[in-house]
Amino acid sequence: MNNVVLSFFKEYNIPYKMNRSDNTVSYPCFYCHEETAISVIRTRWKCSNCNQWGTLVHLIEFIKDNDHSAVEAIKQVEIYDAKKEIEDIIKLLAKIRNKEVALELQEKLSKILDKRQKKRDL
Ligand SMILES: [Zn+2]
Repeated sequence: MNNVVLSFFKEYNIPYKMNRSDNTVSYPCFYCHEETAISVIRTRWKCSNCNQWGTLVHLIEFIKDNDHSAVEAIKQVEIYDAKKEIEDIIKLLAKIRNKEVALELQEKLSKILDKRQKKRDL
């Protein structure tokens, strides 16, 4: 089911973050826009902010049944992803590569990302 849930968020361009530690995907609640999570195994979700709950099928139906602007509003919500933030910083630092400090920071951030990745691959 893992791929089904991820495919859904990719297909509709909904902001998301995969949480491998507990097999969930964080995304903006379709009803209140607070960050919530769906299980990639059972495809169930329950928003702790607005108490709406359902399955992936409900999310698909929401997109089918609601107008364009309701779906667009969900796409505007940011989901914090530490890895993505670090990658963005590395890209920015690459643009000022001529400066020694920037290079040093870039290397340190790359090491952090490598370590995080190795931990997850175990
Ligand atoms: Zn909610």
